[in-house]
Amino acid sequence: MPERRPLLSSRLEGLGTTIFAAMSALAEATGSINLGQGFPDYEGPAEVLEAARRAIAQGHNQYPPGRGIPELRRAVADHQRRYYGIELDPASQVLVTAGATEAIAATVLALCEPGDEVVLFEPYYDAYPALTAMAGATHRAVALRAPDWSFDPDELRRAITERSRLLVVNTPHNPTGKVFSRAELQVVAALCVEHDLIAVTDEVYEHLVFDGEHLALSSLPGMAERTVTISSAGKTFSVTGWKIGWACASPALINAVQTAKQFLTYASGTPLQHAVAAGLALPDERIAALRDDLRIRRDLFCDGLRELGHEVAPPASGYFVVTDIGALGEHDAAAFCEALPGRCGVVGIPTEVFYDHKELARDLVRWAYCKSTATLEEALARLAKLG
Ligand code: PMP
Ligand code: GLN
Repeated sequence: MPERRPLLSSRLEGLGTTIFAAMSALAEATGSINLGQGFPDYEGPAEVLEAARRAIAQGHNQYPPGRGIPELRRAVADHQRRYYGIELDPASQVLVTAGATEAIAATVLALCEPGDEVVLFEPYYDAYPALTAMAGATHRAVALRAPDWSFDPDELRRAITERSRLLVVNTPHNPTGKVFSRAELQVVAALCVEHDLIAVTDEVYEHLVFDGEHLALSSLPGMAERTVTISSAGKTFSVTGWKIGWACASPALINAVQTAKQFLTYASGTPLQHAVAAGLALPDERIAALRDDLRIRRDLFCDGLRELGHEVAPPASGYFVVTDIGALGEHDAAAFCEALPGRCGVVGIPTEVFYDHKELARDLVRWAYCKSTATLEEALARLAKLG
């Protein structure tokens, strides 16, 4: 018998297990408060939840069109016009996906050849390098540096080579909460145009900005035809388990991304697509109120951590705060997070999992504050017991 080759494809070697699932399992197993994986422990807007129930009751339960139901594609196009002044044809420029994750996967698989390079900012959302590897491409990471998480334009320029194909920008940013400024996005746009790169923007936290303003990269000159703009309903409406996302781009780019997407899930979540269309049509004030509600949680948790001696700069957006545990006399965030459930019954994420250059994150821990006030208060009470 010839020796059987290894089961796992060499492209997937080294990907390991997503830290989020592992840390949620650890929280479950130890009865710890889970400030690891980013999901709310409270419900989203009642009218959006009700729209999902209604869609099921009305019989919207079979396959949707491959590009998504027309109502949602129209709602996404209306949303892009209303918030960013971007004009899109819902029929040819919007593709509904199984969460932002599938949109990123389909984009990378559709647009990258083996040997291509993808430029990322680190810390990065862990799916980007994993999906890049699954496409047979490689990535280069440009550092966002604390305390303001800015990047060096020359470092970005040096990361671009003749093999570069995509440049991925996540704004508002996980895990730091950074909101890229207009000046920073102009640097990114100029380099994309100069090197004929396609930009992929992950904007899933677009409606959770507390300080500053979210700007869509595709609204900058020269970028509409070379940007795939990705977002999803999970964070905006506190429904992370629904996995309804979308990609917006030129008709040619959407055709390309759909070529991959159609053989990943083909299509998904018909009743939830109806509900998200209803959500995107909510008035501005209602959507802003969801952000304001999260801001209260951010402030409660960040103030509490500061009182406990953590070094905390409140994040400008999103679900997470990154703290430096050096101030607590701790110097190994990975060991700290591993021991934390046993020490006090709380789970956090060592930020180094979002880095190639792990030395940049030795002391950094990410905490999710998208939790009920009671959960956050209990977590702070437990963290106070750390001796
Ligand atoms: N991008 C970022 C930056 C995220 O934090 C997440 C996590 N939820 C996703 C994408 C995935 O989004 P979805 O659940 O819609 O696939
Ligand atoms: N985006 C979530 C986070 O950063 C996790 C999503 C996932 O588990 N893949 O915590």
